[in-house]
Amino acid sequence: MDAVAAAQALSEIGYLLRQNPEEVFRAKAFSAAAWSIAISRPDIEALHKAKELSTIDGVGAGIAKVLAELVETGQSRYLERLRTDTGQPARDDESVIDLSAYQGDVHSHTNWSDGKATMLEMARGAEALGYKYLGITDHSPRIKVVNGLDAERLLAQSKELADVQAQLEGLTLLQGIEVDILEDGALDLPDMVLELLDVVIASPHVKLRQEPAAMTERMLRAVSHPHVDIIGHPTGRRPGSREGASYDFEAVFKEAARHGVALEIDCDPARLDLSPEMARLAFECGCNFSLDADAHMPAELAYVPMAAWMARRAGIPQDRILNFLDVDELASALR
Ligand SMILES: [Zn+2]
Ligand SMILES: [Zn+2]
Repeated sequence: MDAVAAAQALSEIGYLLRQNPEEVFRAKAFSAAAWSIAISRPDIEALHKAKELSTIDGVGAGIAKVLAELVETGQSRYLERLRTDTGQPARDDESVIDLSAYQGDVHSHTNWSDGKATMLEMARGAEALGYKYLGITDHSPRIKVVNGLDAERLLAQSKELADVQAQLEGLTLLQGIEVDILEDGALDLPDMVLELLDVVIASPHVKLRQEPAAMTERMLRAVSHPHVDIIGHPTGRRPGSREGASYDFEAVFKEAARHGVALEIDCDPARLDLSPEMARLAFECGCNFSLDADAHMPAELAYVPMAAWMARRAGIPQDRILNFLDVDELASALR
């Protein structure tokens, strides 16, 4: 078993543990260990032979045991038991996701809003992973605490983007925005601004507890917007701490498919949204997907390899995921 497959198994354990409020700390420990392995990609076979698995950052004795079993058998009885206990067994028709064909991440943040790194640092992180593109999608103005970007700051950001792009060789930066879906389904920036951007991710961030009929109207309006390319973390849930929005998912997903709007599987361990079950429903409704880290610093780009199991579990084939398109195909998909 390679490090990425092990990270995926540990990340799934973290996810399943999160369903139990008493296990939040253990859940976080598993997610953190998965992240550490997804970033550093240690030779786990060699470490296992040397009985040194617990020298990996974030891997204590308990997690080392699970890892050892993964190395020896390719499986984890603990993971199997959690899947059974939570009623989320593996499916027979899981898809194959070949991460070596993953071309780039379209949802990331920089210190222009609430990211912790500069655009250049984020770009270097994406380059180090061999990505061909990276979407720079900072927040829109409504959420003041994250220093969201209005039209004027977006214009300033585009100048920095051009400067950074000039320093890059194999990586294309896409200028985008993660625009808030307001309570009535309107977007937090005028059309004439959205129109100029390479990628527009519309996300619900606040008032997620709106009653379902109003929330359905809100989401239907967002997916019908001519400039929206992707719906970011479509339910806004935070497993273990916050239930997501409730709306007529089937109606919204079908409308998204009709408008060619992709749904995101946000790989941030705090979100993992859409869930595999919801992603499956969206797949059956005809939707495409984007599989993004929603990274706020370069190391968080490793969330994608940790969480790619979700798309696999949902049975989504690679050709329905935007991130496997090359940069030209992506540009036409986002038009
Ligand atoms: Zn967001
Ligand atoms: Zn985001």
